[in-house]
Amino acid sequence: MAETKTTFCRICEAACGLEVTVENNRIVKVEPDRDHVVTQGYACIKGIKFGEVHHSPDRIRHPMKRVGDQWVRITWDRAFAEIGEKVKTLRKTHGPSSIAMYMGNPAAFSGTHPVFSQGFLAGIGSKNFFSAGSQDCNNKFAVTTRMYGSPAIQPIPDVDASGCMIIVGSNPAISQMSFVSMPRSIERIRAVEQRGGKVYWINPRKTESARNLGEQVFIRPDTDVFFLLSFLNELIATGGVDQAKVRKYMKNYEAAERIAKQWPAEQTEKITGIPAEKLREVVRAYRTAKGAALYCSTGLNMAANSTLAYWVLNTINAVSGNLDKRGGMLVSKGLVDLPRLGKMAGVGKPSRRRSRIGGFEPVMDSYPAGILPDEILTPGKGQIRALFVSAGNPLLSCPNGARMEEALKKLELIVSVDMFRNETGNLAHYILPGLSFFERPDLPMPANGFQPIPYLQWTDAVVEPDGEQRDEWWIYTELARACGIDIFGVKPVQRYFNLNRLVSKIPFVGDRIGFKAEMSMNALVLASRQVTPGDLKRKPHGVLLKPNPENVFLGKGVLTDDGKIDLAPPEFVEESRKLVRDYADELAGRDKLKLISKRERFTHNSWMHNIGEFVKGERKTNYLYMHPEDARRAELEDGDIAEIRSATATVSAPVKITDEMMPRVVALPHGWGHGKADGLSIAKDTTGANANLLAADGPDSLERFAGMAHLNGIAVDVRRSRQPMAEAG
Ligand code: SF4
Repeated sequence: MAETKTTFCRICEAACGLEVTVENNRIVKVEPDRDHVVTQGYACIKGIKFGEVHHSPDRIRHPMKRVGDQWVRITWDRAFAEIGEKVKTLRKTHGPSSIAMYMGNPAAFSGTHPVFSQGFLAGIGSKNFFSAGSQDCNNKFAVTTRMYGSPAIQPIPDVDASGCMIIVGSNPAISQMSFVSMPRSIERIRAVEQRGGKVYWINPRKTESARNLGEQVFIRPDTDVFFLLSFLNELIATGGVDQAKVRKYMKNYEAAERIAKQWPAEQTEKITGIPAEKLREVVRAYRTAKGAALYCSTGLNMAANSTLAYWVLNTINAVSGNLDKRGGMLVSKGLVDLPRLGKMAGVGKPSRRRSRIGGFEPVMDSYPAGILPDEILTPGKGQIRALFVSAGNPLLSCPNGARMEEALKKLELIVSVDMFRNETGNLAHYILPGLSFFERPDLPMPANGFQPIPYLQWTDAVVEPDGEQRDEWWIYTELARACGIDIFGVKPVQRYFNLNRLVSKIPFVGDRIGFKAEMSMNALVLASRQVTPGDLKRKPHGVLLKPNPENVFLGKGVLTDDGKIDLAPPEFVEESRKLVRDYADELAGRDKLKLISKRERFTHNSWMHNIGEFVKGERKTNYLYMHPEDARRAELEDGDIAEIRSATATVSAPVKITDEMMPRVVALPHGWGHGKADGLSIAKDTTGANANLLAADGPDSLERFAGMAHLNGIAVDVRRSRQPMAEAG
């Protein structure tokens, strides 16, 4: 009999409420949850269609081992035994650092997956942890570690009370917003205008968000930091600095002011493309609003100088008085005070540790994925010889996939913990099947601390696995046992899980007293002192928590040693000297084409191309979006196949001509290029090109502080292809 269950989507931070109809353990319908306390009947097509991902015939349902070029089913016990033996040998012969982990974006949307996967690596004793963060967000953690004393402090726009929103490099109509859990984001941003406020979209492309809302301001890729420095310059010149707040709660204002004064709008307009008068208008709107929010997302994060740009952005919000202010940027404590707890556990200070290749500081404990090929290919102590890939696909999502492939093929062991055999999984030795979000009990953890309207929701698993798929906490505790290590590096914890293993095999008893993911999450809920696990079970559509207050961060929540916001951390000041050279390079290259990425309604990074409906007809490929002037210059017409050439690689894609693009900027959606994915029966027939092949890897190509890959703003040449699409793509 059909039954309707309440849950929430775990694809992006919006965490939209869903109603799922289940019949005989099959998901037959997914609809937005109209009664959800925040999402109120909103969910996008990706969440609504996730049942097809869940039930895909391509899902890995049993542990698999590659034997030659064949994949064979093996038992969990055999998989653990073989992997365990190999890990023991590598650890003994080459040391713990020879074993590394890459964690993909989906893992972050589970309450337990990241905790236990990193706990496994900690037990191994290796610091070689890599994540997708260096593709899209680690610059944010690097900045707030230095300015506020914790990577976990990330101010969020108080959109529902804001009088002005300036949004840099974000397209919420297609992908909601990052680092803000804001479902129905367009509706809520539109309300800013309806209240008489202003909205500006700063972007090299007039996105779907800007079509009928706010004002588009085109900006040349890679120049965000110059725009923001001129913004700060103008704010200072027009008396927009709240000097009393600066004196009381911040330090090093003079150093930040000195840098901003070097970049007047008349100078930066030559490279940003934003006329000085337009910049002044934007600053005026921001300065005169009762509460104003300057926010950025992946467009800025994936471009050059992303750490410096995010630093200046935070400086503007702080010195203007908009930080910790209603309608401006608020700091949400979330369920528990994670920044303070992290600080007590020693997280929050810049680390002294450095990567073997390139000398990068870890951000959120992870090194840049752009050095992973070098870490594998460069001989010496600490060379990586084995890789655990947890819900990730570095071949498609990291820069220079061709070099990544060359490196991965040299590894002695690759273990992929995943729902599918993706391109990276094809190179693995073992694939261990993890759960889909419909099979997992959870809290919306990634949304915690990022919610303009704080709430909490509990979900049970809505269906049981239909094969031998297991929760990632179980996979990693079992791997730890098999490898002869202690999860988290803590012996009593591993002993507990070894005992749990025995208990769970006892009929009737195991189910009652064995470890469950809910146990750790219930502890967190109780620690919040705002709500109990019982409340959450009784209210399946979520429970509203206390609203985010203003005036709780400055002087009270800043976790630097002296409790003041550092407006000019010395490393950033030093790095800002290189902007003179970058400015000259931008000026010299302003007639060259630059490539940016683009989000699409039916895709989410590399994961959604295995749904038939999402890739049918026109949607079977990605397109190169070009301004009419640029297309004319390259003698390309709509539908022609273009060859896109960077210093790293060449790919091909059909052209779409649109004046939504800024001249001299082309866009190619990322996450495509599944030609070799024979484990993804639908995606492998798509013809899209992998945009990230065009990006460079290696330490000299990465942003200095957070090791961010340069995925937006790649210098390219575009010409008509002489090959037919099948060969060119
Ligand atoms: S907006 Fe994000 S969380 Fe909501 S349904 Fe879409 S993918 Fe899922």
